[in-house]
Formats: sequence, structure tokens, C-alpha cells
Amino acid sequence: MIIVVKNSCDKSQFDNLIEWVKDLGLDVHTSRGETSTVLGLVGDTSRVDMDLIGSLDIVEKVQRVQESYKNANRKFHPEDTIVDICGHKVGGKNFQVIAGPCSVESESQIIEVAKAVKKSGATMLRGGAFKPRTSPYAFQGLKGTGIELLIKAKKETGLPIVTELLSVNDLDLFKDVDVIQIGARNMQNFELLKEVGKMGKPILLKRGLANTLQELLMSAEYILAEGNDQVILCERGIRTFETMTRNTLDLSAVPALKEKTHLPIIIDPSHSTGVNKFVTPMSLASVGAGADGLIVEVHNDPKKALCDGAQSLNPEQFDTLMQKVRQMLPIVDRTYEK
Ligand code: PEP
Ligand code: MN
Repeated sequence: MIIVVKNSCDKSQFDNLIEWVKDLGLDVHTSRGETSTVLGLVGDTSRVDMDLIGSLDIVEKVQRVQESYKNANRKFHPEDTIVDICGHKVGGKNFQVIAGPCSVESESQIIEVAKAVKKSGATMLRGGAFKPRTSPYAFQGLKGTGIELLIKAKKETGLPIVTELLSVNDLDLFKDVDVIQIGARNMQNFELLKEVGKMGKPILLKRGLANTLQELLMSAEYILAEGNDQVILCERGIRTFETMTRNTLDLSAVPALKEKTHLPIIIDPSHSTGVNKFVTPMSLASVGAGADGLIVEVHNDPKKALCDGAQSLNPEQFDTLMQKVRQMLPIVDRTYEK
């Protein structure tokens, strides 16, 4: 971190600042220029409050020269992290497709969808049991029963299950879940992130509706800092002024994140577009952008879906999508396991 101090400041203010920084356990390298003096802070600056320093009258500018995420940072971990979910590897040259309904609605529904997506080549099953809905009157999910049904579907098909955790109070219900999803609305629920960081399970961390990539990485850092390195990032669209799509799919997040972090990144073309017809083109674009996988909503009867029917593919549409994705993968030097 560097602090640029105005040379117009008086000596006592300058000395106080240096003393304060040293009290934080940091060394200071001073370089005096014509109009300002640059202080180079040496040591662990992760706890330094930049805004507080920046608010001092004598300070012109404060800048970090190193990112505040250490565990997620590719600089300290150049190799891609590969997250292993029951033998299905996410990251590196692998490509995985997670598919299933927005929410688990009944035993027959989840089993029918699970069988269909498996037949088309999906390697994991998604399905919300706890649903974060905008309206408190909308279907909130089958909760514990939903998780039991997902486990049944896993027994029937062998597909590992991915489902969203909304509250630390429900952690016990998730012990047989293979991947815990932290949804967009909870991306900055730091207490929840710390708790899932203590679990040894893979975590699918979705980008918040209005969060920067830097903030996404800081949220991943919360999980990694607790000792859980099995984190998959997910770009699921962000809020913009555009209204023709539910959100705006920020595909540049893939190369941008790949440069900064070793964690795998998958794309959710369903929540990002909100439109059934846009899911396939954006899935293919995701492959082209270098994503490590997709999470796609598929429903056996989208018109009757209790949640997100408009963006859900039916099993036939998903099958076509999978064929196209598979054709494209060799072009980007990716392998699909089936
Ligand atoms: C979901 O995947 O079911 C979901 C609610 O997604 P998001 O958190 O991205 O809105
Ligand atoms: Mn949904």
C-alpha cells in the first residue's frame, strides 16, 4: 500500500501518521518528492483502513498495490484449483454442466428432471429446496422435504446434488448435500460465508446482483480463509439499466476473474437472461469465453413451474443445448467427461 502525503503538511502531522502506521506493525519506506512524499507500507496491510487514512487532511491519495484477497489470488496460487465433486472435476480443462429445476416441487418432478438431464449428459443436479423469493407470498420451497427429495433423486440417478443454503440455522439439513450454493442475495452474508467455510464441502458462490468482481473475490476469500478451498464462482448476471433481459450477463467476468483467481468459474445463463430462448446462445458464448461449466434451469413442464418457468428449458431443449456445447468444447480445448 502506498500513501501520498502533501508536502504542505506540518512535521508533527507527518510524524503522527508515521507513528500510527508503525503501531499497526508495518514498516514505512519514505520517498520525498517536489510536492508530495510517498510512503510505502511494508508488511501485512490487510487490516489497514484505507478510507480512514484517505480522510486525513494531509493525505492526497492512498492506493493498494496488492489485492486484499490472498487465498483466492492467482499470484500466490498460479495453478487452477480443481474442485472435485464425487469424482466430477470443476476447473482446469474440465467442463461440467449442472442442470435441474429452479425449485424442487415434488418427488415425481425432481426424479423425472434428474433422469432427463442425466440422459443428456448433465453431471450434477440442481434444485432449490429453500427459495429466496422477492415476495414473501411466493412459493418458498419445500425446505427439508425438498432436500430429502434431492437425495432420492441422487440415489436414482447417481447425480451429485447442488442446492442453496439460506440460513445457518438449516446447516444440519445439508450434511448429505454435495455442493452448497450461496445465492446472489447472500453473497455478502459474511456470517454465512464463514460458516460454510468451516464445512469441508464444495461451495458454489454466486455473484450478487449489484456486486463487483472484486467483492465476489472478497466473499470467496471469507470461505477460503476458514480453510475451505473448494469454491466455485458463478456469474449469474447483474442489474443494469437493460430491461429486455432479467439481468445482464457479464461474460467478461470469466476472463477477468481467470486472470485474478485460480478458482473455477461457471455461468448461469438462466437467471442472467430470464428468457428460455436466450439460454442456449448464452451457454455457447460462455463456453467461448472460457467458463468452467454451466448451471442451467430445466423443468419437465416449464409452463407449470412454481418458479422461473419462463427461463427454464424443457428436457428436449436441454438435450439440444448439450449437443451444441459438446461440439464446441474441443475448440476451446476443453473436455467433457461423458
Ligand atoms: C438459484 O440458482 O436458484 C437462484 C436463486 O439464483 P440467484 O441466487 O443467482 O438468483
Ligand atoms: Mn430460479
